[in-house]
Amino acid sequence: MSHTNNYDALVVGAGFTGLYTVFKLRDLGLKVCGVEAGNGVGGTWYWNRYPGARTDSQSYVYQYFFSKEILNEWNWSERFPSQQETERYLNFVADKLDLKSHYKFGQQVTEARYDEEDQTWNIITAEGMSLSASFLVMGSGGLTVPKNPEVDGIKDFQGKMIHTSRWPQEGLMTEDKRVGVIGTGATGIQVIQSIGKNVESLTVFQRTANYTIPMRNPKYDDKKRTELRKKYPDIKKQRNETFAGFSFDFQEVPFKDLEPPARKKMMEKYWADGSLSFWIGQFPEIFFEEEANREVSNFVKQKIRARINDPELANKLIPSDHGFGTRRVPLENQYYEIFNQENVNLVDVNEEPLQSIEKNGIRTSKTFYELDSLIFATGFDAGTGALTSIDLYGKDRRLLRDEWNDKGISTFMGLQVHGYPNMFMVMAPMSPVAAFCNVPTCVEQSVDWISDCIRHVRERGAKSVEPSLQAEQEWVKHHDEVADETLVSKVDSWYTSANVPGKMRRVIPYCGGANVYREHCDKVRKGGFAECLIS
Ligand code: NAP
Repeated sequence: MSHTNNYDALVVGAGFTGLYTVFKLRDLGLKVCGVEAGNGVGGTWYWNRYPGARTDSQSYVYQYFFSKEILNEWNWSERFPSQQETERYLNFVADKLDLKSHYKFGQQVTEARYDEEDQTWNIITAEGMSLSASFLVMGSGGLTVPKNPEVDGIKDFQGKMIHTSRWPQEGLMTEDKRVGVIGTGATGIQVIQSIGKNVESLTVFQRTANYTIPMRNPKYDDKKRTELRKKYPDIKKQRNETFAGFSFDFQEVPFKDLEPPARKKMMEKYWADGSLSFWIGQFPEIFFEEEANREVSNFVKQKIRARINDPELANKLIPSDHGFGTRRVPLENQYYEIFNQENVNLVDVNEEPLQSIEKNGIRTSKTFYELDSLIFATGFDAGTGALTSIDLYGKDRRLLRDEWNDKGISTFMGLQVHGYPNMFMVMAPMSPVAAFCNVPTCVEQSVDWISDCIRHVRERGAKSVEPSLQAEQEWVKHHDEVADETLVSKVDSWYTSANVPGKMRRVIPYCGGANVYREHCDKVRKGGFAECLIS
């Protein structure tokens, strides 16, 4: 085992969070080491290279805003960029800022342990590396640890079988094959609409139908890019002031103050925009009021129905067990038209439960589906997975996994945990970036906070910082109160931890808005981190 003990900070992950953290902490004068399981930068955009992977945030907002130079030099080619383009962007940033030289790639962290005597974190990787530092920043993402379906016989399958987030660099041939896809979340939808035209047959195993919004994705030319660049100062401001960190916010006229025809007109307008603004930029009431939610849900249901030839099939593809926007709403592109094809079959696993995976396919309660390839678009152990899949020990040998299993998830603003001094997290539970924030917006905000906190501790000549138990409990209480008011909390999804059997139910993202969250964080910062124990 190789030992390196002289870092000030260790940063786990080389995605949007990790890269910016390395940059910020280096700027603070710290000796920083990044550790990344992949062999390159990108995080989510390194791992999720399945066909059709692209952002659901507009490129002009889904980027860093801290560097004018980067904003001026990088040219987006379309409104919603692909995985490849986003990965190229993050490589561009990493090269431009010379961040890669700070990283150890191909190192999967398996253990992180706080040494109370030395006030240092020691991490160990599966590849045998051991590293130490005063501060540890977990930038390991909220959707990192894949979750396979709970079906017997997975190991028996002899064709190609893959979870979407482990798609091979060299690709996976699906053309002219009999392909099965389990899962119809944001990932499944992108895969299905992308491979559906070229496979011999496609069998989609669906448990829950989702609402979607059709993506409008024009290409950008120089004229458009110049036009957008002029707006960057405004966009930067809007990102910081809006509910979800985008350049749009909820419209302000109350739902009830509009007559039904005016509401319909409004919905058509937002629908035509072809972006998430229909969800997190239109009527905020859809998150709180059943009636408003029902009307918007019905509008979307009609839109979906109009695109599906067979009414029975439409019934299956239209959600019936939850309201619009209470789960993540994916953008789609010709998704429903794929199901109109002869070679595509939708299997509702509620009517026809999955029984086993066998060497040549999947057996359900009704029949056997022969498959050459099987794709799991079955999601992640969201929010907690990256933190609880490693042995993360705080003070008194407290293991985070056990604590969260026993008492439920608990964090201070999704940034720290009491009993785990000098450890910071981004995209962790109870912050908006876990789900209700345009990722780069909230990543920049969280990392800036972390960097200010570390600076504050060092300027005081102190060595250790953690939130007080009281501050953490107050945040959890506030988080839960805000979440409980929403319809989101009443629906099963990864937002409510319901997608992992046995996981204690708790709403993962902070639902009070990225703008409100920012105010909370700023208050703590301006108050000299009084909610924290600093020694
Ligand atoms: P997900 O939303 O959790 O969806 C997983 C799918 O697999 C669901 O349809 C789920 O059904 C199904 N499933 C899981 N276990 C199953 C089983 N045993 N049998 C049958 N079906 C099963 O995961 P995801 O699609 O990977 O998306 C996760 C998140 O990643 C998204 O919500 C989004 O935040 C992010 N994402 C973003 C983009 C983008 O920006 N464009 C793209 C992809 C992903 P149930 O719904 O019934 O549980």
